Amino acid sequence: MKAVLFEQFGQPPRVQNVPDPTPSDEGVVIKVEATGLCRSDWHGWMGHDPDVVLPHVPGHELAGTVLATGKQVTRWRKGDRVTVPFVGGCGHCFECNSGNHQVCEHQFQPGFTAWGSFAEYVAVDYADTNLVALPENLDFETAASLGCRFVTSFRAIVDQGRVGPGDWVAVHGCGGVGLSAIMIASAMGANVVAIDLTQEKLDFARQMGAVATINAREIANVVEAVREITKGGAHVSIDALGHPTTCFNSIANLRRRGRHVQIGLMLGDHSRPQIPMDRVIGWELEILGSHGMQAFRYQAMMNMIETSKLSPQKLVGKRISLDEAPAALMNMDKFEGLGISVITQF
Ligand SMILES: [Zn+2]
Ligand SMILES: [Zn+2]
Repeated sequence: MKAVLFEQFGQPPRVQNVPDPTPSDEGVVIKVEATGLCRSDWHGWMGHDPDVVLPHVPGHELAGTVLATGKQVTRWRKGDRVTVPFVGGCGHCFECNSGNHQVCEHQFQPGFTAWGSFAEYVAVDYADTNLVALPENLDFETAASLGCRFVTSFRAIVDQGRVGPGDWVAVHGCGGVGLSAIMIASAMGANVVAIDLTQEKLDFARQMGAVATINAREIANVVEAVREITKGGAHVSIDALGHPTTCFNSIANLRRRGRHVQIGLMLGDHSRPQIPMDRVIGWELEILGSHGMQAFRYQAMMNMIETSKLSPQKLVGKRISLDEAPAALMNMDKFEGLGISVITQF
């Protein structure tokens, strides 16, 4: 099969012919129909993720059709249209048994713990626990855009942030994660303040439902600006970028008993940011993470997609081919573009 492969961290990946994958006993092989490009792929390529073993094929936001099943797989068969969360639970450990597959002790992550979906085919382990059937009217490219940023945002807003109607929600960073969070929080009835450095992304944030925007390049004190708009601070605030500054601002702009959810990855030099811990104590703030979403929680999100309360297809930006993927991957930290880029030609 054709796959995007890199042999050294930080060295240009190339499209190469590699052996077709075979399914494990509990796994499937999926024919990839669409796969999203994400900053996590860039982190993996740079060597920031200790799970990545060389040589490596990236790609973790995928949708496709089941091609082959392992002998212990009971719920899926050839031809099924599916997607998967980027963290797959083993289905056997304490966390999985308590319903928290997103923090499984033996998690399977395509494109990190195994070869990923920048390829014609991808092997996915623990299929019965992690595969999600696609509704008939959901196309592959939209489905691919769900697997990482959209579901992580859904869990961050709905399950971790517990956003309610009328809440003020601040979203720092308007890339794929931030725009997803804005759309989902707005659908939950919240008032969203979007913060970014570029006007183009803030305009797009308005289209996704933000009621106010802050251009951090033009305003000296983002925290004060959020406090002013929200009349005292956000109930819930999201760092959707993953940077010490946005992380700090997101915690500092909360009102008393507010909740910060960290979605943007903090790796390398950024992994130990400053936190205003005095405020966390005095105001009883909550600091939470969001690490993907369990496959069984997809149904709630799919229901909102089917009734058009959520429209993830609006977040799909550029469609590219597998041959264009190496260049796009290498540029991921420089220019993300508007919305989510998806590989749709293999
Ligand atoms: Zn597990
Ligand atoms: Zn991703």
